[in-house]
Amino acid sequence: MTSRPVVLILLGAPGSGKGTVAQHLKDKYNMCCVSAGDLLRDEIKKESSIGRDIKPILESGSLVGDDVVNELVEQHLKEIVAVGDGAVVLLDGFPRTVEQAIFLDKVSSKYKGETCVIALDVEDDEIVSRIAHRRICNQCGRVYGPRDGAADICICGGKLVRRKDDEESTVRHRLSAYREKTLPVQQHYAKRLIKICGNRSPEEVARLVEERLQDMGIKKRR
Ligand SMILES: [Zn+2]
Repeated sequence: MTSRPVVLILLGAPGSGKGTVAQHLKDKYNMCCVSAGDLLRDEIKKESSIGRDIKPILESGSLVGDDVVNELVEQHLKEIVAVGDGAVVLLDGFPRTVEQAIFLDKVSSKYKGETCVIALDVEDDEIVSRIAHRRICNQCGRVYGPRDGAADICICGGKLVRRKDDEESTVRHRLSAYREKTLPVQQHYAKRLIKICGNRSPEEVARLVEERLQDMGIKKRR
């Protein structure tokens, strides 16, 4: 139905299941994923002039300026939109600030695109309990949740361990920092924000997101 490009933004706190939902959507829809973090890391790998500028910033744990991130995201959106009809782009880690959101609005209107913003709403207690059950392979980094059973060996043979920053007080601190930082972005999109309760299984949440996409005329991959 729609042949205009659609930019899909998924907002959700760490532990909200955003990653799983994104993976599910990528598999089922003809969706390109643009990850702001990956774009930055690619520049460093390519040793481009941007890469050389941002390497020390990323290594020190600081945030790269909006100008640089905006430019990289726009460049990639342009390439994807050029490929053809009805492109759906899933943005990961962008926009993080209101300035980035305003920039995205401008780019999107240039391509006559639609922006669909979905926020996964999960209560803090639920996230804390999910993360409390999370274990990570000390060899390959694969993440295991409560639904993966009690085994303590990874499929790669590595050992599953709990991360130190997955402790409850650290998680609660991370969540409040996340909310403080992204609340203005949510407010920017208030009029078109679709809230989905994420207190369910990732499959169920993905199905709810899918229904919304179908309502918007975004078709599944055949
Ligand atoms: Zn492993």
